[in-house]
Amino acid sequence: MFVLESIKKYAMSDRIALVNREETLSFAELDARSDAFAMYLLESLGEDRTEIVIYGHKETDILPCMYGALKAGRGYVPIDITVPVDRVQQIVDDVQPKVIVDFYGIGLRSDGVILSAETLRDRISCFLGCEVPKENWIKGETPAYILFTSGSTGKPKGVPITAANIENLYSGLLPWMTGEGVILNQISYSFDVSVCSVYVGMAQGMTLYTIDKQMIENLGELFEYLERSGLETWVSTPSFAEICVQSAKFNSGLMPKLKRFLFCGEVLTHKLCDQLAERFPEAKVINTYGPTEATVLVTAVEITEKLRHDELQIPIGYPLDEVTFRIVDGEGRDVSPGEQGELLIISKNVGPGYYKRPDLTEKVFFKDRETGKRGYHTGDSCFEKDGLYYYCGRMDNQIKVNGFRVEVEDIENNLVKVDNIARAAVVPVSDGEKVQYLAAFVLLEKADGLSSLKRSMLIKERAAEFLPSYMIPRRITAVEAFPLNTNGKVDKKELAKLIK
Ligand code: AMP
Repeated sequence: MFVLESIKKYAMSDRIALVNREETLSFAELDARSDAFAMYLLESLGEDRTEIVIYGHKETDILPCMYGALKAGRGYVPIDITVPVDRVQQIVDDVQPKVIVDFYGIGLRSDGVILSAETLRDRISCFLGCEVPKENWIKGETPAYILFTSGSTGKPKGVPITAANIENLYSGLLPWMTGEGVILNQISYSFDVSVCSVYVGMAQGMTLYTIDKQMIENLGELFEYLERSGLETWVSTPSFAEICVQSAKFNSGLMPKLKRFLFCGEVLTHKLCDQLAERFPEAKVINTYGPTEATVLVTAVEITEKLRHDELQIPIGYPLDEVTFRIVDGEGRDVSPGEQGELLIISKNVGPGYYKRPDLTEKVFFKDRETGKRGYHTGDSCFEKDGLYYYCGRMDNQIKVNGFRVEVEDIENNLVKVDNIARAAVVPVSDGEKVQYLAAFVLLEKADGLSSLKRSMLIKERAAEFLPSYMIPRRITAVEAFPLNTNGKVDKKELAKLIK
């Protein structure tokens, strides 16, 4: 696989692969440790190809585990610490891994081996210096990673992406992020935008510069690290850049080498593009678009001054090489040019479907008769103008909150796990462009005699056992009854009117 070849190539130099606070990891160390971990997996698991689970955040040893799994011909499932234990356990039960690396010791139940940071180092130490033959490396249609994303049933759903998918992403994205310098490593490994740094950046010998959760919670610290970074390539969701531009310090003086911002994952606004153009006049802003199911991204476009001043929204881009788009109406017929409809992606980037969910896969994945390639129904409403594509919102209840993908029903199905909540309805509150926050309305099983403030605090506390923090509604209001629409369903438009 291309990225493993590159790590071997750069291991011959003194180049740095990762900076993580005061720690650094050279390509040589990364190569050696990932080979050692791969040897451990091959020796202890033999032919079993079940994916391994990695639970952690931005620990330096995560990268050797990920590439080690690939060198041993199997995929990995990265799970970030933002995911509560209950949900991590659901993923573990689904995957049934033979090896879990748990950097935080959260007490997972598994029939497999659970390695802590210490036992990991201990187990691989005897293999340092060994090299795994390349015949073992991951290839073709074998899943390289499985990312678990919000599922409408209330359980996370797995999206496997194969080695071949990633090879294709690499060739499509390379022209947009060619270089060797320092690249941002801020997105959690359990979100697909991180793949840009971990695969496309790493394969070119870039240095991944880590920004962790703690730094983001302390802007002073964050800016100190950014100042020291020597960053050339910025990869993030627009939401993270929006946090940064709140400070006047966020400008080219802080990161004088910055060449490009590459955004993906949610709406990029005119406002952010204008702010970046003013603060970083030398840096390009590139917008990209894509779902996890089609390997991170399938479009790109440089946001020129002309596009910034266009009255249309910021475009999501041109399809990358090899990617074909169709925009269809409700009956599956191609719409006329310029008309809005659902975007279908036909590309080698499209993954094999949902993990162990043939029912869900059948609904949205298909095989294109003309090309034989896989296709995917994005559920995104889009239109095309002069070859450029524009995003107009979702056709279902999937939303983005601060760049995180969330199914509204996922939150509702987890809120009812909280004591005394009979039903829950969640309404995203938007400023017209982006979701600002989530409001939940709940029906109680019995009166609790609590003030609304106290009740809301208690519900949030309990919900944190089941939901990551970005999925917990900011406002929670108890109602006597839900307003119903003519179909007898909860009328969310009426509920939205209750939000002042
Ligand atoms: P994820 O699987 O987390 O990458 O989320 C995929 C969804 O995010 C897409 O189906 C879109 O709804 C949304 N999305 C991704 N990129 C963009 C973008 N550049 N502009 C607007 N929405 C986006």
